[in-house]
Amino acid sequence: MEAWRRALVAPVSAFPIAKAGPAHIATLKTFDPPLAALEGRRFRGVERRGKRLLFPTEDGELTLLVHLMTAGRLKTLRAGEKGPKTPAFALEFADGSKLVLTENARKKRAGVWLLSPEAAQDELAHLGPEALGITQIELGEILKRESRRLHSLLRDQRAVAGIGRAWANEILHAAKLSPYALSTDLSQEDLERLTTAINDELARGLELRERGAGDDKTYRVHNKLGQPCHVCSTPLARVDFEEHTIYYCPTCQTGGRILKDRRLSRLLR
Ligand SMILES: [Zn+2]
Repeated sequence: MEAWRRALVAPVSAFPIAKAGPAHIATLKTFDPPLAALEGRRFRGVERRGKRLLFPTEDGELTLLVHLMTAGRLKTLRAGEKGPKTPAFALEFADGSKLVLTENARKKRAGVWLLSPEAAQDELAHLGPEALGITQIELGEILKRESRRLHSLLRDQRAVAGIGRAWANEILHAAKLSPYALSTDLSQEDLERLTTAINDELARGLELRERGAGDDKTYRVHNKLGQPCHVCSTPLARVDFEEHTIYYCPTCQTGGRILKDRRLSRLLR
């Protein structure tokens, strides 16, 4: 990444941007400000934070943030040089040179965000490692850091980035773990199952979404109160925890136990 960053500095800051886009619908993650807001501005250089590349504009107004994930590649093309037919994202500079992002994978995972510099800092300051692609070692360290209920830990973007409440339900069901289990109580086998469940479930979700599947087809546990578990046919249960509603299978996940509500309002009483 660092080598890439260095190689990009000169070509991207030599000329102002003449045309921003096109961008693949799955690649561009923001719509406000619009990409066209980059046109006429020049990049100050390229910065790197972890696996993310930042392209701040010279006027300090905007930052383009690029996350290549595993299959994304950034290339610069001289004016007139032949590039990929359908890049995931492209910028054309005033001299006709281009910066293109390609992703040679069926699933588009790389992302481009156009943000204010403050929003870019916020985005980065609080972000844990990406959930999709997380390794057992990374996850093990996160779980050990402090003792927390698995459902709320998985949803915490500062711990792991990219899991919302619906996917926390799907993942914990796939991992056969109780949403109330404490992160520090997990065995090595639990950790293995959880790592696999995070990666498999998010990959399954992405694939379904790309085929245009709605929530009902995508989720197997979330919002399915009373419907039979797809593994064991037990009716799925629901419990309120803090300000969230959790869905789970009592047979697969909690050894038959029905979880008690732990709503914030109740805890405060
Ligand atoms: Zn079940």
